[in-house]
Amino acid sequence: MKKKIAVYPGSFDPLTYGHMDVIQRSLKIFDRVVVSIFINSNKKSLFSVEERCDILKKVLLQSAINRKSIEIDCFDGLLVDYLKEKKTDIVIRGLRAISDLEYEFQYAASNRTLYPDIETIFFMPRQRYSYLSSSVVREIAYFNGDVSKMVPPYVVKKIKEKFKQLKG
Ligand code: ADP
Repeated sequence: MKKKIAVYPGSFDPLTYGHMDVIQRSLKIFDRVVVSIFINSNKKSLFSVEERCDILKKVLLQSAINRKSIEIDCFDGLLVDYLKEKKTDIVIRGLRAISDLEYEFQYAASNRTLYPDIETIFFMPRQRYSYLSSSVVREIAYFNGDVSKMVPPYVVKKIKEKFKQLKG
């Protein structure tokens, strides 16, 4: 039987428990999920693409099951071209509180205009993560706040190192 592959694109700057919740749910449906960092050179990021990739690999590929079913990658350019390269037409996105809806609707609709076969599938995280975003994590961490309920321990460590380095 053909394996069902889906792409989960995002900034992952940094990876949060919200992203991980979405990935876990998507693995109930798909045989393989490609978690792919979208390289947006217009957007200033906290972590470089290499650092974000290292975090995704260290955190997500820990278990044998995950190693087989999750692929970590990055891409720039159009998502629709990337999907063709990955030989899939399925995109995974997460939906938090209603604030995501407008942007996600626009993103999914414009991708469909470019590639009519595309299907965007939305996953709703558990409630405690529905107000969690990477930008909130960055903001709290900048002021030395505790983000350990929002991101896994490896990310907490990387954030501390990053701000130490940035603040000198
Ligand atoms: P952010 O908006 O936090 O910077 P990304 O660009 O990495 O996140 O988001 C990639 C996808 O993951 C988007 O569809 C976004 O809505 C979703 N997502 C991000 N955080 C969460 C969360 N806490 N719960 C569910 N989905 C999320």
